[in-house]
Amino acid sequence: MNYQEILEIGSRNLKINNIKNFNLESELILSKVLNKSREQILINFRNFVNKNHINKFNKYLIRRIKKEPMAYILGFKYFWKYKFLVNNSVLIPRPDTEVVIEESLKLLKINKSKKILDIGTGSGCIVISLLNERPKCKATALDLSRKAIKIAKTNAKLHHLENKIEFINMDIDKYSSNKYDLILSNPPYVKDINLNRLDDDIKFHEPKLALSGGLDGFSEIKKVIKKSRKLLKNNGTLIIEIGNEQKSKSIILLKENGFYINKVRKDYSGKDRCIVSTKIS
Ligand code: GLN
Repeated sequence: MNYQEILEIGSRNLKINNIKNFNLESELILSKVLNKSREQILINFRNFVNKNHINKFNKYLIRRIKKEPMAYILGFKYFWKYKFLVNNSVLIPRPDTEVVIEESLKLLKINKSKKILDIGTGSGCIVISLLNERPKCKATALDLSRKAIKIAKTNAKLHHLENKIEFINMDIDKYSSNKYDLILSNPPYVKDINLNRLDDDIKFHEPKLALSGGLDGFSEIKKVIKKSRKLLKNNGTLIIEIGNEQKSKSIILLKENGFYINKVRKDYSGKDRCIVSTKIS
């Protein structure tokens, strides 16, 4: 069997199982199996695959047909300008979250050395992207999940940032330290009743711990806000990602906790996605 033939089998099977990007994903799966770029595959259509390749291809295909996200199958996802390793212990980095990076970069001057805390770091994509852009800064990154911390540490090493970011496997409630200039967080914020309404890819494969914001969707947002008040310097900034429809209540919570609202930022699909606020009391 040659590349073209196996790609066609892949596409056809993905298509009949309602996978939208069936051609692209078939190509990406073959590129994973052969450890070659998509381009190399597309210009060598007549090359042959061996038995071992076919077996691997089928295994990945079945995982995708069971709606496992491509990022977990491939083992990585691009976020901001960088590549991050992921597995099913961490949320897959979303393009929506890139607005958190944009807002952080506006605040952090290139030559200043600031102390940053990332609450619920997951794959580490937020803090690692930021430190790649702002090499004079130092950071702490917390996550409740030991497995997530392991992935985040691996990602930090891949980006040569292991000496600038301290990773701690701890619940934010238990954390105390010297104060920070900037706190970032993409906390779990999906309402429990909405968890079942998420796409199958998310619902059956991404970690609930990284998604569930409790009954009202605010349990973790509240924790982050309350704790940030204690962990931020005066005039320090909190940039928190929120869900669509969580703006008003988040603003109330922030104000109750001594924050001034600088800005509510929409993502690229026009949904309220993050709030930039300053600790003033
Ligand atoms: N934006 C994510 C989703 O619903 C949720 C991320 C989160 O809870 N922080 O796909």
